[in-house]
Amino acid sequence: MDFSLTNDEKMVRDMVRDFAGAELKPKAAELDREHRMDLGSLARMAELGLMGMNIPAAYGGAEVGVVPYSLAMTEVGRACASTAVTMSVTNMVAEVICAFGSEEQKRKYVPPICSGIFAAGAFGLTESMAGSDPAGMKTQAVREGEFYRLNGSKLYITSAEYAGVFVVWAITDRGGPRSRRISAFLVEHDTPGFTIGKAEEKMGQRGSSTNELILEDCLVPAENLLGAEGDGLKIALMALDGGRIGIGSLAVGIGLEAVDYARDYARERYQFGRPIADFQAIQWQLADSYTELESGQLLVLRAAYLKQRKEPFSKEASMGKLWASEAANRACYKAIQILGGNGYTAEYPIERFYRDVRVTTIYEGTSEIQRLVIARQILNQ
Ligand SMILES: Cc1cc2nc3c(=O)[nH]c(=O)nc-3n(C[C@H](O)[C@H](O)[C@H](O)COP(=O)(O)OP(=O)(O)OC[C@H]3O[C@@H](n4cnc5c(N)ncnc54)[C@H](O)[C@@H]3O)c2cc1C
Repeated sequence: MDFSLTNDEKMVRDMVRDFAGAELKPKAAELDREHRMDLGSLARMAELGLMGMNIPAAYGGAEVGVVPYSLAMTEVGRACASTAVTMSVTNMVAEVICAFGSEEQKRKYVPPICSGIFAAGAFGLTESMAGSDPAGMKTQAVREGEFYRLNGSKLYITSAEYAGVFVVWAITDRGGPRSRRISAFLVEHDTPGFTIGKAEEKMGQRGSSTNELILEDCLVPAENLLGAEGDGLKIALMALDGGRIGIGSLAVGIGLEAVDYARDYARERYQFGRPIADFQAIQWQLADSYTELESGQLLVLRAAYLKQRKEPFSKEASMGKLWASEAANRACYKAIQILGGNGYTAEYPIERFYRDVRVTTIYEGTSEIQRLVIARQILNQ
């Protein structure tokens, strides 16, 4: 077993670390305060190949593989969680089109995502009454000649305000078996009948937009059906397996940034005539946080490694996302404790990390759903 990174993997990590530290980190607090994304940064990330890292060069991707993608997500997550979630969903959308799209769909939609012509891609699965159980969705698509007529709404869609293309799921066969009722469609942002609705006022990751989508007699060309009719649930679940590597990696990044900050603070903050880092109570919090985060990163990287080798990785991705996101939440909680009152104020970045990290145990499948995925595979259900 070899835990060392290849030179190429180190090169990608270091390049992204330098970029994210210089360009994303200095703006992160402002984007959070102003609730806005920096589209210039997204364009620059596309130029660097960060919007299609696991996409073949033939479709404009960087084709560097899943391990470098995970390392890059952690670096971007360290610098700006809002930008990181945009990157994660955009890569996931490019990958799902590459995996299930026709040649024509791949040529039409993937290069603009990778090159930044589309600032982002978006993933429209969740609805107000269907989150953990997407098969319970209500949005419908009815075939009418060369089109499908879509009606319904979606909730909590990341990057909706600036995405160029959306994967939208809808029921095509209400009476069919649960696993075959849904289909996936590629919907362009300016399709008549497709509206970006209310923006959510969120606890964290406020730089990234999260909106409702409204589909009212939205006519989508039949050629924009992704995969075959009835493949929708399979496509969503496969996309989410890969997406979990992205979110797990992002969570590790937020956690490591918080704990590094707390470590440096503990060395400089004096109480009782000594740096608080001298107190065992503080040392143990740091030791636990680094141990849990590094184990989370190992799990996520293992899932990335398996995916890169085209081996099954669904259980491993859920384990990585579950552990990394929960460990990162604990690490941010402890980081505030180490900073004391300062940690609770917006003068210091830790309160933002604490708000940003919270959602990582919720989106792309809650922790409970990760446990369900893992248990099903362990029990072979
Ligand atoms: C900031 C943000 C961005 C998002 N971005 C996107 C996006 O881009 N695209 C998209 O499609 N969705 C997106 N989502 C939606 C997200 O994936 C869902 O919120 C998530 O899957 C949970 O669904 P829910 O909120 O409806 O919760 P519910 O499904 O209502 O769950 C509520 C609680 O019940 C638990 N629960 C549910 N079922 C079970 C079960 N079988 N066993 C045990 N516990 C269970 C859950 O774990 C949770 O604790 C986003 C959400 C947020 C907050």
